[in-house]
Amino acid sequence: MSPTFRPRERRIQKFKTGRDAAYALRPDVPIYGFRPEVLKADARAFVENFSGKTAYAVKTNGEEFVLKALAEAGITCFDVASPGEFEAVRAVSPDAEMLYMHPVKAQSDIRLALEKYGIRVLSLDHEDEIAKILRIVRAGDLDPSEITLYVRLQTKGHAAYELSKKFGAAPAHAVELLQRLDRIGFKTGLCFHVGSQMDDAEAYQRALASADWVRSRAGVPLAGIDVGGGFPAEYGHDPRRKKPDFPTLPELMGQIRTDIDDYGFSDLPQIAEPGRVIVARSLSVIVRVLLKKGQRLYINDGIWSSLSDSWTGKITLPARFLPDPSRKRRTGNPEKLVPFKVCGATCDSVDILSRPFWLPETVDTGDWIEIGHIGAYSLALRTRFNGFYPDTFVEVETPFDEEAGLESFASLETMAD
Ligand SMILES: *Cc1c(COP(=O)(O)O)cnc(C)c1O
Repeated sequence: MSPTFRPRERRIQKFKTGRDAAYALRPDVPIYGFRPEVLKADARAFVENFSGKTAYAVKTNGEEFVLKALAEAGITCFDVASPGEFEAVRAVSPDAEMLYMHPVKAQSDIRLALEKYGIRVLSLDHEDEIAKILRIVRAGDLDPSEITLYVRLQTKGHAAYELSKKFGAAPAHAVELLQRLDRIGFKTGLCFHVGSQMDDAEAYQRALASADWVRSRAGVPLAGIDVGGGFPAEYGHDPRRKKPDFPTLPELMGQIRTDIDDYGFSDLPQIAEPGRVIVARSLSVIVRVLLKKGQRLYINDGIWSSLSDSWTGKITLPARFLPDPSRKRRTGNPEKLVPFKVCGATCDSVDILSRPFWLPETVDTGDWIEIGHIGAYSLALRTRFNGFYPDTFVEVETPFDEEAGLESFASLETMAD
């Protein structure tokens, strides 16, 4: 354990449900409801559905309590991208393997990875990155044959977040990179990342087809194939829309397994780097309505705190209305869901959620809303903007979907002013 690591003293209160937490604490600040058993179950479900090695993508949610629960669930390999993430993983699991899968790295971070953290798997998509890595290998008198360098391939897809524009070598370039790495004496692999919340199973197939083409042209032995992340999490559903024709996780992973076989990669070690699909359902946030103004609700969270990912990703979030029991008078029909425009906690005028929350017409100042499935890219993207920084956690036993009162949701359409 590194000397700079100090465990944060955090006595987490435990509740049976999110509703119990809201009514017991009556919080004015957002409260995160962490469900460790859901996290562990979702991690194990992924591992069971994937034939290779599962490397959790730390950037999705790198909180100490998350990494610890994952280590307890048997995750022994982590996809990391920065010294902060190396440190976070080491702090909870001294022997976990780390894969440094960021294709563009600082020279000093490569040195730290190879020398201090003993990382032996890295990725790249350009020859100048090879030069950077080689400099550290030579300076440290390391043996290149003990290091596996994965060439990141360009992909094309339609994920909610498209990452292929930023990273990845075109196929012919990837062939050159593999051959160059092989000549130097490194072990080589191929990797890709199709984007996040991928709703198109064929994106993995197209990427594997491309990897197959590159392998056959390169003619060098491969030490592994890494299919990246992007596996979709289950979110909420807007009852007014047709349920999308979405593969379940076992279906999607079955399809990927078939594609791995079909393209002749099944005899190679395989890696996946799931983030969202493992951690999304493990956290909710209980927010409070600070003011109701007609069809507008002002809440104590927003795009600068926990809710930026779901907005950019156009995700339908499930929500549960938790009316303040001490409110005596209400107007409206409690059975009728209406769309509310939701304004965030900061004074910033862009801090307005672009899509409506459907809530009972009776919602009012002082009520709470528990927003579910925000475990991915929420805590990691919090800012201290305007002095707001939600950081209160409770543990909740009941999975979010298994408690009554799930009729509310944040929908997909954009709202007019
Ligand atoms: C972000 C990222 C992941 C995780 O993506 P999810 O969509 O959360 O599964 C995996 N691999 C790489 C290289 C990434 O950048």
